[in-house]
Amino acid sequence: MRFSKLFTKTLRTAPKDEAARGAQFLLRAGYIHKELAGIYDYLPLGLRVLENIKKIIREELNEIGCQEVLMSSLQNPEPWQKTDRWDIEKMDIWFRTQLAAGGELGLAPTHEEPMTNMLKSYVSSYKDLPIYVYQFQTKFRNELRAKSGIMRTREFLMKDLYSYSTDEESHDKFYHEAEKAYKRIYDRLGIGGDTFQTFASGGVFSKYSHEFQTITEVGEDTIYFNEDKSVVLNEEVLNDEVLQDLGVKREELKSARAAEVGNIFTLREKYSAPLDLAFNDKDGGRKTVFMGCYGIGVSRVMGVIAEKLADDKGLVWPENVAPYKYYLVNIGDEGTKLAEKLYKGHEEDTLYDDRDLRPGEKFADAELLGIPYRIVVSDRNLEKGIIEVTNRATGETRELPAKDFSLSNLHS
Ligand code: ATP
Ligand code: MG
Repeated sequence: MRFSKLFTKTLRTAPKDEAARGAQFLLRAGYIHKELAGIYDYLPLGLRVLENIKKIIREELNEIGCQEVLMSSLQNPEPWQKTDRWDIEKMDIWFRTQLAAGGELGLAPTHEEPMTNMLKSYVSSYKDLPIYVYQFQTKFRNELRAKSGIMRTREFLMKDLYSYSTDEESHDKFYHEAEKAYKRIYDRLGIGGDTFQTFASGGVFSKYSHEFQTITEVGEDTIYFNEDKSVVLNEEVLNDEVLQDLGVKREELKSARAAEVGNIFTLREKYSAPLDLAFNDKDGGRKTVFMGCYGIGVSRVMGVIAEKLADDKGLVWPENVAPYKYYLVNIGDEGTKLAEKLYKGHEEDTLYDDRDLRPGEKFADAELLGIPYRIVVSDRNLEKGIIEVTNRATGETRELPAKDFSLSNLHS
């Protein structure tokens, strides 16, 4: 991509009402645009980041036997009435709309009800199970407070996975596979080291649910952990009974601010019973399907990565997530000639800053955008026969011979 052709441009200032550093950089660097509080647009660079995050999640979920679907955002109230979640007193985050022909619809805050209801058409026997289905979908929630840029918004991208099993035992097996897949996902996203699976409140149906919490100052939650971080728990379950259950003492625990980047729940029959999703078992008996659900806040993850890895100059994307791998800068006539040559064949992984700007301005934008490798091809360096490659994360610059230099063999 040529920067001169990129539709967005970098901004010198961020909106005053954005407190989080990551959010300010995302706005200034042109990854996102703010429509209203808690409502954002994703621009070309931001969309590439989202797609990279989705790709990693998709690969890991497909690996454990999940299948991708895309359900509607407009929702029929009926299944929600059956589970008693249509009531605004019980679910206060609903956005609702009216059909021109009369009648009300909901704008998807989540999909347990429509997914479970839909499966009634496809599940009749134990032979039809298990089913593991997921989607990447826009959710709408009338959150009282929007916070930290794209970390808590009123419209956001979620990956939601639902598992439908014949019994608890086969459910548990899959739940364990999902835990491991989640760990791989956060590792590949570059936040694995600071993301912990926590014990969270599980409601009435199972003792605990699990959340995945990433330590960050701008997080809304507080987590508690012991020194080696083998036991991590959420604030809401910090009580004597749970401490005893987990075998830790209160004084052994430290606390940290964290953001919930995902969660996994054993739902048992919570939704399948009221929606009557049942099957004929081997022995001929009728049984209710055993359910689990597994969420990841895709756009929140993007905000958390931006926030956590940024430094005072701008964003720092891990290679797996970055919108481009290389940020190519041309300086001078000879520099431009060679940069043009290097760029050929790398239109997909390189952002080529071919703009008619002073080097200092290009370098500042390179730091703001946070692309992993900056390659400077300048007349002055070429006289010395070198090309400079700077690693955005470490700040380290290497001088490589200009002769035979190619972006393709940069890492070999
Ligand atoms: P939270 O406690 O943060 O409100 P939640 O318990 O409502 O989250 P779920 O309904 O299970 O979360 O949603 C799955 C994931 O979607 C969460 O783990 C989180 O990463 C993300 N998420 C939830 N609400 C929002 C929001 N308003 N904006 C952005 N991401 C969100
Ligand atoms: Mg919520």
